[in-house]
Amino acid sequence: MSNEVNPFESLQEQIEDAATHIDVGDGVLDRLKNPERILETNLSVELDDDSVGVFRAYRSQFNGDRGPYKGGIRYHPGVSRDEVKALSGWMVYKCAVVDIPYGGGKGGIVIDPQEYSTDELERITRAFATELRPIIGEDRDVPAPDVNTGQREMNWIKDTYETLEGTTAPGVITGKAIDSGGSAGRVEATGRSTMLTAREAFDYLGRSLSGASVAVQGYGNAGSIAAELLEDAHDVTVVAVSDSSGAIHNPEGLDAHDVKAFKNETGSVTGYEGATEELTNEELLTLDVDLLIPAALENAIDGELARDVQADVIAEAANGPLTPEADDVLTEKDVIVVPDILANAGGVTVSYFEWVQNRQRFYWTEERVNEELERHIVDAFDGLLECYEEYDLPNFRTAAYVVAIQRVLNASEEAGSWP
Ligand code: GLU
Repeated sequence: MSNEVNPFESLQEQIEDAATHIDVGDGVLDRLKNPERILETNLSVELDDDSVGVFRAYRSQFNGDRGPYKGGIRYHPGVSRDEVKALSGWMVYKCAVVDIPYGGGKGGIVIDPQEYSTDELERITRAFATELRPIIGEDRDVPAPDVNTGQREMNWIKDTYETLEGTTAPGVITGKAIDSGGSAGRVEATGRSTMLTAREAFDYLGRSLSGASVAVQGYGNAGSIAAELLEDAHDVTVVAVSDSSGAIHNPEGLDAHDVKAFKNETGSVTGYEGATEELTNEELLTLDVDLLIPAALENAIDGELARDVQADVIAEAANGPLTPEADDVLTEKDVIVVPDILANAGGVTVSYFEWVQNRQRFYWTEERVNEELERHIVDAFDGLLECYEEYDLPNFRTAAYVVAIQRVLNASEEAGSWP
């Protein structure tokens, strides 16, 4: 794993690469590569021992040409201004590639949530929501969950916003619990799009997923659900999974559901009795498998590690798991990489459905959510393939960016300039 690579520089490189295939002027390119604005704030919050904790927090609003800024809020000690900028840019192109009417944004707090009590986390979250209040809203900027945040934090943010505004506005945030205006299928949505895009990629290669070996780096929401869905719907063999405690391996297959139950109970995947051995993170990422799913954080695979990757297909459930150098190496090796902005776009796509349901105050069945999600993801995959073949592009990531940038450019050009 490479900590040296700045994710914001990676994002900019990805945009520049794709822009060489489209007619984009310099000034416009600059806009496509930089956020419109960033809120940077320090949250002062009373802790349980009566001391005051100060937490750095950010919200980057990258581009709003196609609709309200949209993207999650992350709680992690590694959050930084540049990371949030990168993640907000990836959201712009993610929403554009699946053609949902949003721009992109992202937020984060520099914190290790495990070190704080539930009461403290609630106060920290409400303090952040209070800072966010003037810049978010159903038609302005709609946050959602990301690493280490979920329904609980979304419910608190919704409640803080509605209380301060003196109204009800469930569509101000997505990823809420069902009884607080959440959508059926939202929790599974990111893993579901990873499963769907892996299926489409295997289909493209004329290969069957049935019996395919799969390794998953990161066994949180996205990684574990992708593994379970692949196992249930396509009978894959999940041979290795990992989390921050380490990696476990069984060439005969692990039971994806059982490993998750074990992790829920014990807090980690290591120690699972169905494994034959433990591996390092690097060993997992370089296993000889048919499908590799990086589902943890940015920069999991750098150029050096990419040289040892043996997987035929990579589906990026995480945001930014490959450095640009890794991308070049894998392109050279003919590894098919389904880029993050499509492979994990299920989360924001079902966030969009949640927002639509909130605005209409009319709720869909899980079956309808999953059908609409599949349609959006498969259409986006087909659009990517068409572009990849028509422009003879080097890889799927470039194709995804060409499609997405074109859509953002169209919206921006159609809006004209003002004043
Ligand atoms: N955090 C997720 C992502 O990176 C979901 C964002 C959303 O639902 O707005 O795509």
